[in-house]
Amino acid sequence: MPVDDELTALDREHVWHPYAPMPATQAPLLVSSASGVRLRLSDGRELVDGMSSWWAAIHGYAHPVLDEAVREQLGRMSHVMFGGLTHEPAIRLAKTLVDITPGPLRHVFLCDSGSVAVEVAVKMCLQYHRSLGRTGKTRMLTWRGGYHGDTFHPMSVTDPDGGMHSLWRGVLPEQVFVPEPPVEYDPRYVERIDATLRERRDEIAGIIVEPVVQGAGGMRFHSPQYLTALRELADEHDVLLVFDEIATGFGRTGVLFAADHAGVAPDVMCLGKAMTGGYLSMGATLCVPRVAQGISRGETPVLAHGPTFMGNPLASAVANASISLLLSGDWAGAVKRVEEGLRAGLAPASEVPGVRDVRVLGAIGVVQLDHDVDMAAATRAAVEHGVWLRPFRDLIYTMPPYVTEDADLERICAAVTAAARVA
Ligand SMILES: *Cc1c(COP(=O)(O)O)cnc(C)c1O
Repeated sequence: MPVDDELTALDREHVWHPYAPMPATQAPLLVSSASGVRLRLSDGRELVDGMSSWWAAIHGYAHPVLDEAVREQLGRMSHVMFGGLTHEPAIRLAKTLVDITPGPLRHVFLCDSGSVAVEVAVKMCLQYHRSLGRTGKTRMLTWRGGYHGDTFHPMSVTDPDGGMHSLWRGVLPEQVFVPEPPVEYDPRYVERIDATLRERRDEIAGIIVEPVVQGAGGMRFHSPQYLTALRELADEHDVLLVFDEIATGFGRTGVLFAADHAGVAPDVMCLGKAMTGGYLSMGATLCVPRVAQGISRGETPVLAHGPTFMGNPLASAVANASISLLLSGDWAGAVKRVEEGLRAGLAPASEVPGVRDVRVLGAIGVVQLDHDVDMAAATRAAVEHGVWLRPFRDLIYTMPPYVTEDADLERICAAVTAAARVA
């Protein structure tokens, strides 16, 4: 049997893929290598990656600077435990994150994925109030249409429908939901959140949202003015404000962090995805001194969390390299150029029958249909155009690497439009 056929058969037999039954109904494509913005398939085809590997590979693949950072760190140490030990890559990373995120955030908990960063953020909120004797404050308020990860607490603040809460009734912690945010600022919507915070003041510990862009929950954008309103509400009701910037961080929406659209600082911020340039799994939860002090003065004065691979030196080293590569170049110009390319390239998609909305923000381009996509057909159409896309629900979207050149952007847009046509 040729090697590829053998691998495909073994994959089908043993490997569970995300959001898939076992075995998967659609055989995944076999990738043998990747460089720049291209994925090379084992059968020799090349695809322009319109997904940045789930929004992470902002500099593209096999970038010489990032490769070198990993290689250099590999020669020193791949990993040491973070309990009782520390090291330069993690210390430098923490300092950089504090420097580039909104001012008041000063303390950094490094962990191993975005979902864990959200777990830690929720734990911080609950424990902060617990330390102050407010043990009834165990719930998070959030808006519908969000996505915060797949472990149980993150799932509990993810959209109740998208997060399959009915499947997990009785298992998931019950959180407090308000409707999804309107696109434009509406003071009545803010009043509604205010009323909910007032009614359930004894229960609510914090507010958690994805600022400006709701990603995997539906690729929706909303007015940054809501962030200012949430900041005011959080202060007024003495609850903590958490921004999950795992998808939006590191320039994706045109500013370094989506919070910067409003000039608002949360009390807790979650990072992940693009932090390592898509090289290695890593998350981070940042908080303001008030949160750390509250927890550290409590009856149990520690944050009881410590993943085995916390602060991993390889991941820290490549994160440092990725962030300095981003900041040393004209990242804002690059994202702007991608934004303009997507705007121009996706405009014709609005004429395709069944397309309900076309929207672009930063390096995010979304085509929303008035029905769920035929995922297999849409993916096939994109691949035939030489592009890798992963449509879901009623959405065909792209979040390409910032280094994607104009000709490749055009190709991506043509593929999105073709996928919309067959979907
Ligand atoms: C992807 C994502 C997560 C989960 O991150 P993982 O690394 O997949 O665990 C959480 N929040 C948001 C906003 C995300 O986009």
